[in-house]
Formats: sequence, structure tokens, C-alpha cells
Amino acid sequence: MKVCKKVLLINPEDSRSKLNFDGIIVNEPLDLEIIYTALIKNDIKAKFYDFLTNEKEDLKSVIEEYKPDFICTTAVINQIPFVLEYFNIAKHVNKNIKTIITGSYAEHNYRQLFLNCIDYISRSYDPNCIVNIISDVDNKNINGLCYKVNNVWKNNKLSYFDINSITTIDRKHFYKNKKIYRYLEMVGACQVRTSYSCPYKCKFCYRTILNNNKYVTKDIIKVVDEIESIKSDNIYIVDDDFLFNRNRLIEFITEVKKRKIHKKYICYGRVDFILKNKDIIKELKEIGFYYILVGLEAINDNNLNNYNKLIKKDDNVNCVQFLNDIGINCMGMFIIDLNFKRKDFKNLYNWIKTNNLKHVALSIFTPLPGTKLYNEYKNKLITQDLTKWDYVHLVTKPLNLNKHIFYLYYYLLVIKLFKLAKRNNVYDFIDFKKLRKNFFGLVVKD
Ligand code: SF4
Repeated sequence: MKVCKKVLLINPEDSRSKLNFDGIIVNEPLDLEIIYTALIKNDIKAKFYDFLTNEKEDLKSVIEEYKPDFICTTAVINQIPFVLEYFNIAKHVNKNIKTIITGSYAEHNYRQLFLNCIDYISRSYDPNCIVNIISDVDNKNINGLCYKVNNVWKNNKLSYFDINSITTIDRKHFYKNKKIYRYLEMVGACQVRTSYSCPYKCKFCYRTILNNNKYVTKDIIKVVDEIESIKSDNIYIVDDDFLFNRNRLIEFITEVKKRKIHKKYICYGRVDFILKNKDIIKELKEIGFYYILVGLEAINDNNLNNYNKLIKKDDNVNCVQFLNDIGINCMGMFIIDLNFKRKDFKNLYNWIKTNNLKHVALSIFTPLPGTKLYNEYKNKLITQDLTKWDYVHLVTKPLNLNKHIFYLYYYLLVIKLFKLAKRNNVYDFIDFKKLRKNFFGLVVKD
């Protein structure tokens, strides 16, 4: 008789510091849903444990009751310590439970995960690698897998994965928690991936080296089929850069119009593309593009050059103005550089106010393991605690300010920006008092 294996899929906590957009940007666990779909198709039982949906029972009780054979999770860098905690809990309940980790950190930093509580590291985005592990396929034949033989880690070669082979995603978990997953006021933001990895080479960025450095795209017809089938009006295209190929976007717009699909969209795009393809952006606005998340990164050419961003400071000004003019919400993403002095925090605030940029996300400069930039900084780290790699903490020493003063100016900037946003009637749904308390904690405690 065939014994049916059971898998518990864990969506880890984002952060325990409760800073930034906690509770107002809550991401659907798309990658885990893709794995779930592949498991179910192969008659493997699977169930979610999602920390973002405030599960009623604690993880240990769920493991005791569900009795999984495998625990599988995807994680980015700052979630790794949480994942290790979950795996240790599972092993404590039953040492025979096998643990699998996958996700962006695992692809390039697998050696850091050669730990007792981990049994498998899946470096590929291909969900069938997880299916193969559970189905007892010979480990040495699984693409990009790290596994143990007599307690010695083995590491298979990784080939890129073509995302066109991902089949229709089973969205049961999303629909069950539709009210929780959101992007700001867009509640029920359903994630769609139309490409994987990024064709650009920004120096600080990890996304460009994913999928064995290979940018892959999904056929537009398949993308529009997927969007059409989703029972939600809010679509969050999570590609690192959706606005890349002009012809592909024309095909997308034509197909959406032809099928009379009326939804609201969020996507990432670059300043240079937006400025060179204003006609396309206007058409995207017409079919429902509501937020474009743009990596503005800096307001001076020096920092933009350092990041190899391939844009000039005036391009950023023109991009924000253009998106404001046509009525697309620009979410401007900036890096708070380690070289910031007091005046840089002030200048950034003034720039945002003067250019009428209503939505802003700030990230403290964070060298990510696996990038070339990391090698320049690895001897200057001030912490080894991976939970701090969440872009709201310093992981290396600021160049011109004492750490606490840097945090203080950062905190003041965040508070001023939220006040500005309130005056502009955005972020009405934010608990301002809670946010202020959390950020003040950062200045005092970290
Ligand atoms: S910052 Fe954006 S454009 Fe640059 S490599 Fe990363 S994902 Fe691509």
C-alpha cells in the first residue's frame, strides 16, 4: 500500500521588530502556494501554517496534531533565524521530521545553512524539486539540491528554471485569507509572477543573481489567463521589474483590453524605462495600473553611480513628476546610505516634499550576502544577527555619524514623512502612535 506523505508548509514571520509597513503590506506566500500546488498534483498531502494570518494554534501544537513527515519553508535573509527556530521545534517534537528550506537566501548562501536542524536546501525555484525530495527521487538527480550523506553535505549543480512550467496556482490559501493580504489600501492583493530574476545589475541588489543569473519570462497569454482567473480585483505583479520589454507590455495591454479585464495593478518598474516609454505607461494607467514601485534610490548622482543604477538625479525628478501628472501612484524607494550626514536626511525630506512624492519606502543600506557588494563590507559588519537584515536596522557602521545619532535622524525622517503623508491623505489606515513607539524603540534599543 502506498503511504501518503504529509507536508507542513510554513510561511515565516516577516520581522519581530514591527517596524516599517507591518500589517499594511502583507504578502501572500506565492512561492509556497506554487509548491503547495505541485505537491497536491502529485498526491502529497500539504497544509499551511502561516504566521502572517495569526494562526490560532501555536506551531508546536499544530506539528503534534498534524504529524507531518516534512516541514518546508521559503525564506529571505532576515527570516532565517525564525526558520531555524521552527525547524528546531519540529525536530524536538519528532526527530524524524525532515526539514526543507528554499527561497532567495538559500540559492547563494546555502553553505551557511549546512546545519543540524536542516535536512534539505532546495536552491532552485522549481517546485518539483520539493516534490522530488518527498517522492524519494535519488537526491543526486535533483537540480540544485543540497542534502546530507552520512552527515556530509552534498551540493548538486544548479541549472536555471523556466517559470513557464508553473501550472495554474491553487489559491485556496489566498482566498481563505483574502482580507489579510494587502498592499496598503489594496486589500486582497493577489500576487502574480510573470518573470523571475532581474535583467539589470544594480550593485547592491540580490534579485539580479537569482535563478543562476538568468532572467526568465512567462508567456503573456499565460499571464493574462492567470490574471483573468483570479477572483480578486487587486493584482500585485511581483516581478523585480515588470516594465522591461516594450513589446511584451504592448502584448499584455492588448490582451487585457481584448478580454475586457478590469482590475487594479501594482508593479515594479525603473525610472529609465518609464521616461523612455511614456506612451506605454499611459496605456497601463488606462487599463488599471495604480501603484508603480520605483527604485529612486538616491537624490544625488554620486550615490546613484555608486549603486550602478544607470540613471541621473534629474531622471528621478522627471519620473515622479510624470507619474503624478498621469495619476499613477509612485511608491518611491530610497536607500538611506551609510554616508548620510544630518543634511542628507533633511535634503531627502525636502526633495520628497518639493517633488510631491506621496508614497515613500526607505531602506537602510544593507549589503546582502551573495552580492559583490557584500565582499566589500563583510569585514565591517557590526552584527551577525540575520534578523537585522530587514532594511530598518544598521548592519554596518555609518561612515559619518554615530549609530544612535544615525538612527535618531532616520527616526525623525520617518515620522516627518508619515506626517507629510497624513497631510496628503495617504496612509490614513496607519496606526501612527504604534509606529512612532516602534521606531523610538529602535533608536533607544538597537
Ligand atoms: S534594484 Fe531593481 S532593477 Fe536593479 S537589479 Fe535589483 S531588481 Fe533589478
